[in-house]
Order: sequence, then C-alpha cells, then structure tokens
Amino acid sequence: LLRVDRVRKAFGDHVVLDDLSLDVAEHQVVVLIGASGSGKSTLLRCVNLLEEVDDGVIEVAGQEVTDPRVDANAVRARIGMVFQAYNLFPHLRVLDNVTLAPRLVHKVGRAEARERAAAMLDRVGLGAKAHAFPDELSGGQQQRVAIARALVTQPALMLLDEVTSALDPELVGEVLDLLGELKDEGTTMVLATHEMSFARHVADEVCFLHQGRILERGPAAQVLESPQEPRTQEFLRRFT
Ligand code: ATP
Ligand code: MG
Repeated sequence: LLRVDRVRKAFGDHVVLDDLSLDVAEHQVVVLIGASGSGKSTLLRCVNLLEEVDDGVIEVAGQEVTDPRVDANAVRARIGMVFQAYNLFPHLRVLDNVTLAPRLVHKVGRAEARERAAAMLDRVGLGAKAHAFPDELSGGQQQRVAIARALVTQPALMLLDEVTSALDPELVGEVLDLLGELKDEGTTMVLATHEMSFARHVADEVCFLHQGRILERGPAAQVLESPQEPRTQEFLRRFT
C-alpha cells in the first residue's frame, strides 16, 4: 500500500533521510522508533507531501505521489495524518472539526458529513462531546477527536506522529487503546512513537531509524526484545 523507495531528503547539507526504503502492506501496522532527529517525522511528512523529497519515489495505493505533476491535495485526501499537538480548530465545535474535511475536500453534503462525523465520534467514544469546543475537552479527548477527524474520510493510510507524547501520562492509555482497536479493524498505519510497550503490542513490524536510515527492521518482538544491531541495542537500553 505504501512504497518508499530510496528516498533522500536534506535540509541544506544536513542529510535527514539517506536513501531510505520502506514497504507497508495493506492492514499492516509499522512503528518507527529511533532517537530524536533520526528522521521519523520527516519521513511521515514526506509521505504526506508536507516536505518535498530530493530524490527517490513514494507510492501510496499504486500512485506515485512524488511525481511533480500530482495534486498534493488529492494525495492528502487519501491519507489521514495525526500530529503530536492535536491541531484542532479552537473556534469550531468538535463535530465541525470532524466535518470540515469531508465537506471541503471530499465535497460531501452537509447532512451526510454530519452523520458520518457523528458516527466517527461515537466510534472514538466522544459522541456526547460533539457540540463542545476543543478547549472543553481533556488532551486525550482532543487527540481522539483529531484521530476521528483523520479517519472520517476513510483514508487508505493513517500516519501518526508521536500522538501521545504531548499527553499527561494518565491520558495516554485511552489513545493507545483506540489505536489498538483501529489495528484490529485492519487500518493500515505508520506510527512514530517513543512508547516501546505500545510498539510491542500494536506493531506488526518495527523499524529502527538511525541518521536517516532504517538500520534494523523486523517483527516487533524480534527488534524490541532481541535486536541484532548494536545501535538498536543501545537505543533500547535507555527504555528499560
Ligand atoms: P523526534 O523524535 O525528536 O521527533 P524525529 O526522528 O522525528 O525526531 P525529524 O523531526 O524527522 O526527527 O528531524 C530529523 C532532522 O531534520 C533533525 O536534525 C531536524 O533538526 C532536521 N529538520 C527537520 N525539519 C527541518 C526543517 N524544516 N529545516 C531544517 N532542518 C529540519
Ligand atoms: Mg518527530
């Protein structure tokens, strides 16, 4: 479903993605781990065309998104992205935050957009908060709204960047539980996270990034419990 082929990205002379390749199959959950600055966010941003690659090819659902002729908005319409800070529109009620993309990007009618949004809010356990404003919700609830907003357009691929790292520890669990349910429903996801126990539970595969390369990749249990590369071992030692 996602194919990243020898992608290179530099900021000035700082190479951030160094001939990086990654394939993700439909229904697969791939977790990116690695030290701060290893390139996790940049990789996700390149897939969503928030950054332009210098070289290499990215394909989403058979379409080459790095083709310069491609319409970035059409690509993003098929990808759901959730960030560390939930980025809800503070002046819009929860329901209106979730209907925005279906209405504007997918040209869904108002009544149907509201119906879909309400169903998605029920799905994430926030049906009762549809008419609240974002600042009336806890951080965990806001992040669940952000996930609902990303899901409501039924994207082929979900990209999630450190979606729990801005949350108070007691709120992390509700968001991780939701992501676990999405995995069980077959949602294809690529996540960057520092939550190793979550990675162990939800990931089909874990990729360890180091200086813009995937140094080690494999089933979660293998990479997290018996890493082969010294750098992976060193990185994981800090979490135990
Ligand atoms: P973290 O775990 O802290 O989120 P990360 O693995 O997501 O780290 P990236 O955000 O991808 O790392 O950053 C990789 C490198 O690229 C860093 O050294 C960062 O400073 C640099 N970088 C990212 N975005 C830009 C930018 N817009 N301009 C210049 N340098 C950038
Ligand atoms: Mg990051």
